[in-house]
Amino acid sequence: MSRRAVFLDRDGVINRERGFVLQPAELEPVDGLARDLRSLSEAGYLLVVITNQSAVARALLDWPTLRAIHERLQRAADGALDAIYVCPHHPSAGATPMTRACNCRKPSPGLLQRAARDLHLDLARSWLIGDAPRDVAAAHAVGAQPILVCGEKCKSAAQWPAQATPPVAFVQDLTEATAHIAEARAGQPN
Ligand SMILES: [Mg+2]
Ligand SMILES: [Zn+2]
Repeated sequence: MSRRAVFLDRDGVINRERGFVLQPAELEPVDGLARDLRSLSEAGYLLVVITNQSAVARALLDWPTLRAIHERLQRAADGALDAIYVCPHHPSAGATPMTRACNCRKPSPGLLQRAARDLHLDLARSWLIGDAPRDVAAAHAVGAQPILVCGEKCKSAAQWPAQATPPVAFVQDLTEATAHIAEARAGQPN
């Protein structure tokens, strides 16, 4: 049986945006993270982080450190994260084996498709919470429903690029995105 997921962008959604996170101590999980994730999980969603980390291609970050960063993230989430998928690539930055074109750097939907295969997800009944147009585009590419976290910038949501398909909702933060999903879920049979 296929399951629903909420895909979560990492930086700017579940971790406060501050540029590259190169050490576990640089992670700043957002307020209410464990509570919000628990409520999504209890509503029947798998929670899957989908994150571009070109710091790997740039040789700023190695895999053991990234793993340690994600162990800290999982602790802050009270263990609620079901999976974390990383694109380590960049098409041009750096000079490592990870410096190359790929199909998994958002807006490409490669990581969403890989997660859907691995976890048997029903993408049409899944959501993605992101804070950038490339997150929204990746969700649309697989038929999932994107929610854009835009904080103060929500006031200028009308500036959404006219040629791009907009998200289904503009919200302040993860807590508001969680409430939106709960409301949409209410009244549905399963
Ligand atoms: Mg982000
Ligand atoms: Zn990639």
